[in-house]
Amino acid sequence: MIDAEIVQRFREILGPKGVIDDPDDVAPWLSDWRGRYKGASAAILSPANTDEVAATVRLAAELGVPLVPQGGNTSMVGGATPPVDGSALILSLRRMNRIRTLSPENNLAVCEAGVILSTLHEAALAAGRRFPLSLGAKGSATVGGLVSTNAGGTQVLRHGSMRALVEGIEAVLPDGAIFDGLSALRKDNRGYDIRQLLVGAEGTLGVVTAAALRLVPAIADRAVGWAGVAGPEDALRLLRHLEARLGDAVEGFEIIADDGLGHVLSHIPGTRSPIATRTPWHVLVEADYAERREPDARALLETALGEALEAGIIADAAIAENEAQAEAFWRIRESLSEAERAQGPALQFDVSVPVADMPAFMTGAAAAAEAAFPGSTASSFGHLGDGNVHFHVRAPRGTPDGPAWIKAEGETISAFVHDTVVAAGGSISAEHGIGQMKRAELARLASPARLSALRGIKAAFDPKGLFNPGKLIP
Ligand SMILES: Cc1cc2nc3c(=O)[nH]c(=O)nc-3n(C[C@H](O)[C@H](O)[C@H](O)COP(=O)(O)OP(=O)(O)OC[C@H]3O[C@@H](n4cnc5c(N)ncnc54)[C@H](O)[C@@H]3O)c2cc1C
Repeated sequence: MIDAEIVQRFREILGPKGVIDDPDDVAPWLSDWRGRYKGASAAILSPANTDEVAATVRLAAELGVPLVPQGGNTSMVGGATPPVDGSALILSLRRMNRIRTLSPENNLAVCEAGVILSTLHEAALAAGRRFPLSLGAKGSATVGGLVSTNAGGTQVLRHGSMRALVEGIEAVLPDGAIFDGLSALRKDNRGYDIRQLLVGAEGTLGVVTAAALRLVPAIADRAVGWAGVAGPEDALRLLRHLEARLGDAVEGFEIIADDGLGHVLSHIPGTRSPIATRTPWHVLVEADYAERREPDARALLETALGEALEAGIIADAAIAENEAQAEAFWRIRESLSEAERAQGPALQFDVSVPVADMPAFMTGAAAAAEAAFPGSTASSFGHLGDGNVHFHVRAPRGTPDGPAWIKAEGETISAFVHDTVVAAGGSISAEHGIGQMKRAELARLASPARLSALRGIKAAFDPKGLFNPGKLIP
């Protein structure tokens, strides 16, 4: 157990601002965004710079105190929630929120771990560039968390996930050594890629203190459209059609089930359906160009969607008339998780299968889950073009006690969905990570080779097991 004396030792190196131990101030950071996990911790350590992180890690190693790195605490898998027994301290990077440099010439931003994603978006735009990764939690998620979860989001189709956007990393390793891998080398063959090992490590191999992130030219012309389709097969046909017409300008392509749209319209004030026709599925599409051209993005998308309509791929479509409407279309997509939370209890699965198999998976797995768990409803939404959807199984209508339903059914339903995913050659975590939520399932379903490699790497970096215990590594 961590007592006041231990907390005081950290205060001596971090100063009064660097340690938060008032229980009221600590409390909001002890549970996850979805309210599924509740941990305990005597204090939040909040260093102001990399040297302070290193000193903190060294002291923690000396005292044998486990650390839970935390950014915006928006993890979907309980990744930043400390253990329930109070045995660990939270190491928050939120005070380290400087953009150290932003170079339009090099298309690079060097950000400290605590920089919030929307802050980076704004800074890049002010310099005529953009950081091409966005997600619903952009107002809270931090660079350190995004790197450590290898976050995805809605632009992976064109720009890749975090892994593809990280050009360099600075981190403090479990022995307190500072790994300076910030210089953005295009070529570097000094053996194992330590930077990439830290991407997606979920705080189990060290603390990311800064990252050099790739920027791309700002958007000069964009078009955002909405299409109603009969099913995921047609949605994928639409994607291939748009790619054939617009090439790699297709940056966003999100599929949304009609029931998900219905939840948004019911629970999120000010939202309305972009199309009048009621179709079983919907697609949100965005095409972006870095320069103005004739015909413009809107006209190009309009022509392509018109062809799709004629070919019977889609049933209806709308194109945003202006930026406000484009944002309103995106707001629907970004509010899906929140709306579903308001709708009632549900179990959420972030899964991937090969892109071509995704349509059959979406319909097949939903039908199979509804048959196996009578009264429940299942559907999915998300990044069809990446072969990644968020597959949700909702409690039967009128379920009085959500947490009790999750407790009673959660394990069986999870095992059912995950078995279905693995049978389809997929992954039980496409972009949210493993955290504490999927650890047991990773142990159950991963191959012996994967498990021994994960455990071996963890042991090599963190032999004392002090970094984010109870997460990721089974
Ligand atoms: C509404 C909503 C929508 C979302 N949409 C998406 C989406 O589309 N795609 C997607 O990929 N994710 C999505 N997420 C999940 C989440 O936003 C991402 O996982 C994000 O990367 C977490 O960032 P964070 O700063 O909040 O990290 P936290 O939640 O604080 O931490 C996440 C993990 O990273 C570790 N960590 C945090 N900072 C550091 C650091 N500096 N060094 C080492 N380890 C660290 C933590 O220990 C933990 O394991 C969504 C979440 C919400 C709430």
